[in-house]
Amino acid sequence: MTRRKTNTILQILAATYPDASTRLHYDNLYQLMVAVVLSAQCTDEQVNKVTPALFKHYPDINSLANADLNELEKLINRVGLFRAKAKNLKAAAIIIQERFNGQIPDQFEDLLTLPGIGRKTANVIISVGFGKPGLAVDTHVQRVANRTGMARAKTPHQTEVQLKQNIDPKDWNQTHHLLIFHGRQICKARNPLCDVCPIEKYCEKNLEMNK
Ligand code: SF4
Repeated sequence: MTRRKTNTILQILAATYPDASTRLHYDNLYQLMVAVVLSAQCTDEQVNKVTPALFKHYPDINSLANADLNELEKLINRVGLFRAKAKNLKAAAIIIQERFNGQIPDQFEDLLTLPGIGRKTANVIISVGFGKPGLAVDTHVQRVANRTGMARAKTPHQTEVQLKQNIDPKDWNQTHHLLIFHGRQICKARNPLCDVCPIEKYCEKNLEMNK
């Protein structure tokens, strides 16, 4: 897809979803990192249910690094894959203390060295947390980008690279939120609402992209 068409689609989506932003609740960088790690294969709503008590028990990196694993698991056991996430969060906090002076790193490659943090999570932390260009590709972004023809990619990493080639870095973060909102509300996995879709005219409708 041409850069021009891609940006036309994004302009229409921006007008359709003027309040597109993360739905995760957080007050600081530490809370954002924890919430994003918990949100893998889980809804933001479900994450928001467990984080108030979690942040009360473990308000910072230091307390998380010293957390009792069983207690940590109990606090997040309503979130999918909670055992692995508890283990990863504690291990990530220990590494942040030991290697990064207790500060969450602001470099993409450094974030990728932390357990439980892949490209998607690192991109969210970089863009939402640090205000730097980042384009996280989750299941909604992967589906919408490839159905519309904004990308033609099998993997989220390829989709990320292709989207970045056509979109100005200052718009990467917003693109992430717009495609998520569109994927949740109109371009749904099972029944995309093409009849009422505001970008239908520009969409290639590659509907084999079902996920
Ligand atoms: S036209 Fe259909 S496939 Fe294309 S973005 Fe809209 S809902 Fe998705």
